[in-house]
Amino acid sequence: MERQRGAAECIVCQRRRDSGIWVLGMLICSQCEEKLVESKAADSGYDIYVDRLRVIWQHVFDAEAGASAKLMEGLWRQLNV
Ligand SMILES: [Zn+2]
Repeated sequence: MERQRGAAECIVCQRRRDSGIWVLGMLICSQCEEKLVESKAADSGYDIYVDRLRVIWQHVFDAEAGASAKLMEGLWRQLNV
């Protein structure tokens, strides 16, 4: 995770924001970040954040799987040259 400048649509609240945490090109705005940090399982609204985070992490896992596939493809080519 890293912080960058530039406007984008927050993946949680889907509003256009210009600051927050970037995860693989997806923005979690500062407001939502605070809500996520403050959220407790008993609070209403928690589920939707958990669902959103699931979507985010699915993207992360997909991206990592893609990187691993490319790495394996590269190794496979080297072995077969
Ligand atoms: Zn947001």
